[in-house]
Amino acid sequence: MKEVFAGIDFGGTRIKIALIFENKILVERNIEAASQQTFEERLADIALEIKDLLPGTDFKVSGIGFAFPGIVNFQTNVILSKYVKYPGAENIDLNAWATANFGVPLVIENDARAALIGEWKHGAGVGSSDLVLVTLGTGVGTGVLVNGVPLRGKNFIAGNLGGHTTINFEGNVCNCGNIGCVESESSTWVLTEIARKSPDFLSSKLSQVEVIDFKNLFQLSEAGDSLAIELKNRCLKVWALCVINLVHAYDPEKVIFGGGIMKSSHIILPYIKEMIDKHAWINSADVALIEAFQLESAGILGVYELFKQKYK
Ligand SMILES: [Zn+2]
Repeated sequence: MKEVFAGIDFGGTRIKIALIFENKILVERNIEAASQQTFEERLADIALEIKDLLPGTDFKVSGIGFAFPGIVNFQTNVILSKYVKYPGAENIDLNAWATANFGVPLVIENDARAALIGEWKHGAGVGSSDLVLVTLGTGVGTGVLVNGVPLRGKNFIAGNLGGHTTINFEGNVCNCGNIGCVESESSTWVLTEIARKSPDFLSSKLSQVEVIDFKNLFQLSEAGDSLAIELKNRCLKVWALCVINLVHAYDPEKVIFGGGIMKSSHIILPYIKEMIDKHAWINSADVALIEAFQLESAGILGVYELFKQKYK
């Protein structure tokens, strides 16, 4: 029998399922996150999809790994935080699910921490022992490796809440409950609010888009729209200060960036570099700012590595 590992990355809109054989992704498939279903129903579908993905009767599943967008207990495999896209996930016995469906053990990790480990072992972080991973997009996700150990902490939040550190003590209350978070200060709804209040709003092309998102914000600012430039600069400043905070806290050799917005990495990374040189305790020469090699698969590769470590 050939043994494959099944990795599942639970995204906001899609769930990626992949089978890993001998250190490489053999086959993969995306299914809808389908938030109208309960998590239990989704898990039943996932079990069927995994069985369907097996390339032949001489293959069997030897382990399962979940990369989940929330705080999880890595030791007991329990999801600790509620997530609107996967209602009820925090009440499910995942170990029992893996045993009942495949007769194998399971590992679960926060998605950003899993992606950090995937990039560490298979991507942009190979050979380093001090890394920070930052995903920029609708949300800001972070994961941290210090002295070759992924940070978890007592409540499994260490390194994960870079997007929910306070960047503006006079800011609004974030949907997480904290004040002036990186994520709330650079969110598209805050940008929309600021744009609408601007005297330049009606003369800006931003008044013609249905919703302000990072894609049209970066496009319009490249086209010279002055309000779009102002809001883009605000985001860049929030992100750069977030990175400086992470660099000060964890002193990484490399900061690895991912997320949809990295299509504009030619604008974002040089700006952050400049801000580090101006404002951080170290120079930009002391910390490499690089793009993730394979962020699409990094979470799955990360839980694969964790599984090998946990059940060796
Ligand atoms: Zn927050």
